[in-house]
Amino acid sequence: MSVNLRDYIASVNDFPEKGVVYRDISPLMADGVAYAQATDQIAAYAKDKGVEMIVGPEARGFIVGCPVAYKLGIGFAPARKKGKLPRPTISASYGLEYGRSTLYLHTDAIKPGQRVLVTDDLLATGGTIAATIKLVEDLGGIVVGTAFLIELKDLKGREKIKNYDMLALMDF
Ligand code: 5GP
Repeated sequence: MSVNLRDYIASVNDFPEKGVVYRDISPLMADGVAYAQATDQIAAYAKDKGVEMIVGPEARGFIVGCPVAYKLGIGFAPARKKGKLPRPTISASYGLEYGRSTLYLHTDAIKPGQRVLVTDDLLATGGTIAATIKLVEDLGGIVVGTAFLIELKDLKGREKIKNYDMLALMDF
């Protein structure tokens, strides 16, 4: 029997600032059945696409991507913030509401031609996932899909990644 994943998202008004409704995925992660169901759905999508490697941005991209990698018996590479990765990296910058941020990936994280799934917990404006995709492609990887627990429809992130296949388990 499956559960309704929406029942496991907590909507928090005025976080992190007034006027924002934050979608908190921690109740989903805290429930073994819901977390496994979300993982299984993304794993089925990835398997269908012949994914060989998963890349997710710090930090909630790890929460979504790592169990999928384990389930499929494939690897996971973390895209991280400045100063976290110890070996040679490439970087990609992206716009935030205020200012810019940069993500880094180890240069040996992806082999040229590898079929990659990019994961994160939530798609908002699409800046984070677009930067993650750029890192993968700069190393010669092929992004065969993107997967999220949640898509925030109004922010139109989907348009930023319209050239890529996309799975979102829920939208708000
Ligand atoms: P974007 O770059 O698409 O504008 O923002 C998506 C990133 O911000 C994701 O890495 C996500 O973790 C984080 N994010 C933005 N808003 C929310 C939210 O309401 N809930 C959660 N869980 N993450 C958010």
